[in-house]
Amino acid sequence: MLRIGAIEAGGTKFVCGIGNDSGVVEDQISFPTEYPDQTLEKVINYFVDKNVAAIGIGSFGPIHVDPNSPFYGYVTTTPKPGWANYNFLGTLKQAFDVPFGWDTDVNAAALGEAKWGAAKGLDSCVYYTIGTGIGVGVYMEGRLVHGLVHPEGGHVLVRRHKEDHFEGMCTYHGDCFEGLAAGPAIEKRWGLKGNEMPADHPAWEIEAYYIAQSVSSTIFMLSPKIVILGGGVMHQQQLFPLIRANVQRNLNGYISSPAILDDINSYIVAPGLGNNAGLSGALALGLEALKKS
Ligand code: ADP
Ligand code: ZN
Repeated sequence: MLRIGAIEAGGTKFVCGIGNDSGVVEDQISFPTEYPDQTLEKVINYFVDKNVAAIGIGSFGPIHVDPNSPFYGYVTTTPKPGWANYNFLGTLKQAFDVPFGWDTDVNAAALGEAKWGAAKGLDSCVYYTIGTGIGVGVYMEGRLVHGLVHPEGGHVLVRRHKEDHFEGMCTYHGDCFEGLAAGPAIEKRWGLKGNEMPADHPAWEIEAYYIAQSVSSTIFMLSPKIVILGGGVMHQQQLFPLIRANVQRNLNGYISSPAILDDINSYIVAPGLGNNAGLSGALALGLEALKKS
């Protein structure tokens, strides 16, 4: 049986695992993200006796994903100590002589969902993670989208909710989507963590308003066949109906697809792979790298 390594590299924690070509994860471990050398030493120790045929990495970012760039495989502008301009992929390549897949954590999750999850059988999907930050992965016409750098859908600009006077907290843009709607913004605005607030707290209407704006723009811009919303904040199930209703209101009948007009419950959905979307996505990247090699 084929054995593929997978790394879900998050800003808070790393998850490493092994799996097979059906997307089944057979073993995994997790540890906090520290300085890069210490963290990658743990990654290397995990894989050293696993005999994997390839390794896929879905990484927090921004990262360099253009294979023609001399900085391919580097992390770029993160505030995370030690990681800015760090040669993440290169360090692992020195340790293991196998094909590597390398992409953003959210692109990886989008690929995993397209292969084995909520977007199975579809040739496009957009995957959101709404957690400590907001990231958006884009899979279109059967492939992951990178463009100039890679999509950064967490930082799109949004129109303010009229009752929201929170200044926003993105270090680059203040009140961009992430600055207003990621988990830390909810906590700072209300003085309570998201998981401590009741389902009928006014926070969720404002949260849904911002998420729905971004999703509406994504639908206008990319026309994905499904939109998948993951990450810690989306554990608040009551957000889904609020977001769907806001999206329908924003689009106002203009996008005349039954998926949106009649069947939005199966168009804006939770990850089919649940909390495994990230790691399974990394596994999918590893498999693709093996096929290409
Ligand atoms: P990360 O983005 O660091 O990988 P998560 O996706 O779990 O991890 O996101 C963490 C953020 O999500 C935190 O800001 C946390 O307060 C928020 N969060 C986690 N669980 C919940 C929950 N059940 N309800 C609301 N917010 C949550
Ligand atoms: Zn921003």
